[in-house]
Amino acid sequence: MESTFIECENLVKIYKVADLEVVALQGIDLSIAAGEMMALVGPSGSGKSTLMNILGGLDTPTAGRVRVGERDLLDMSRRDQVTYRRREVGFVWQQTARNLLPYLTAQENVELPMALDGLSARERAARARHLLEQVGLGERLKHRPDRLSGGEQQRVAIAVAMANHPRLLLADEPTGEVDSHSAEQIFNVMRAFNRDQGVTIIVVTHDLGVASRVDRVVGMRDGRTSIEILRRRDESGAAITEDEYAILDRTGRLQLPEPYIEKLAMRDRARVRLQDDHIAVWPDRAAETVKHDEESA
Ligand code: ADP
Repeated sequence: MESTFIECENLVKIYKVADLEVVALQGIDLSIAAGEMMALVGPSGSGKSTLMNILGGLDTPTAGRVRVGERDLLDMSRRDQVTYRRREVGFVWQQTARNLLPYLTAQENVELPMALDGLSARERAARARHLLEQVGLGERLKHRPDRLSGGEQQRVAIAVAMANHPRLLLADEPTGEVDSHSAEQIFNVMRAFNRDQGVTIIVVTHDLGVASRVDRVVGMRDGRTSIEILRRRDESGAAITEDEYAILDRTGRLQLPEPYIEKLAMRDRARVRLQDDHIAVWPDRAAETVKHDEESA
């Protein structure tokens, strides 16, 4: 079993806006293994960005615990926070303009975080060139962002994010504004860094094909994790099966996938029965009969 790299326990985030409280995270429990590449999916407003910002040290939770590596993100000094953001975590945002400085070339953009980290000019130039080659842009070193396509800009952004060898890469909708071919290149580049350097990756995406590109998909709904899809390979490493999981919280509550509930027209309660090695769940037919009688009366 791989070691746990990220551990969120009962993570709560409440935003206060004037007199209103918005509960963005309602008690997230989530473990992520070192070297995992995971996707976070879910409707807009479900708390994905809030979770990413907390994991990136850009925001602090209201309650709960969150650990990344040896760091307790709720108990960091200002100085630790700066070190964490500069060296231990890399970001890629959806808006290319947020990732790159427009008046710097691709190479200068990649060198910038290294300059902040104190590398010599020669080391910076060599590493920036190497990173840009790794993202397939070895021929575009001197191009400014406006001379690169959206997909190319995002690959430069990945090189920038990887500049200081972070152990965690957070990508918030990195493929949101590019075509499907560019999206595939972006995923391939992230997968290569994950495989070759063991960087743990969390990517927020609306991309429906994502399940086949990552190790695990975690679905979020209303500030909680809802479903998980895990990919498994058979012993030969070839065939892939995808298993879908519902999340069981600490008090034993289980959220069934919405399509299942709709398919069986389930509501209010479910009939359950313990079997030897599983639990059977049925719609509450008795309730349906009553309802049906009421309607026909
Ligand atoms: P997602 O990334 O899944 O779209 P977010 O994490 O952005 O979801 O938002 C979760 C909830 O928190 C939403 O209801 C959103 O309106 C609210 N929210 C997010 N950021 C802030 C903020 N800075 N101030 C107030 N409310 C916020």
